[in-house]
Amino acid sequence: MTYLFFSFRKKKVNKNIQTNDKVKNFHRQVRLTKQVADGIITYSKTWHPNEGILILQGNSKKSGEIYINGLVLPPFSSHGPYYSGFPTSELPLDLSYIGTVHSHPGNSNRPSLQDLNDFFGLISIIICFPYEYNTIAAYDRNGKSIELIIEGV
Ligand SMILES: [Zn+2]
Repeated sequence: MTYLFFSFRKKKVNKNIQTNDKVKNFHRQVRLTKQVADGIITYSKTWHPNEGILILQGNSKKSGEIYINGLVLPPFSSHGPYYSGFPTSELPLDLSYIGTVHSHPGNSNRPSLQDLNDFFGLISIIICFPYEYNTIAAYDRNGKSIELIIEGV
């Protein structure tokens, strides 16, 4: 009798998991062109050991995909070893500006509390030393990691 009870419970749990997977058609993902990724790497190396910051240009789809195909130099940006930023009030209202990317001269690409407080747009990309494709990461405004793909790499 005990055996039957457990096998019934197991089946029920599996069924629930399948149902949840079907509901998930929203797939959050950030895609960068190779040119953008290379631009981020070069810019970060130029500013090392200070932080560098750039505006991300692109678009977002209802499916949750964010596509980035351009980088913009922010006006009046400041750069330090632990800080980089720019006054967002100086930016033109441009709907293609969907976030920022900045570099961390250290070995962590996780957002700091300051990074989350200064969040601009939909996503924040952070690259850390030694500035390679695999040290680039993307986050939402809650600091949650988002899958990142570099096209053609
Ligand atoms: Zn930071």
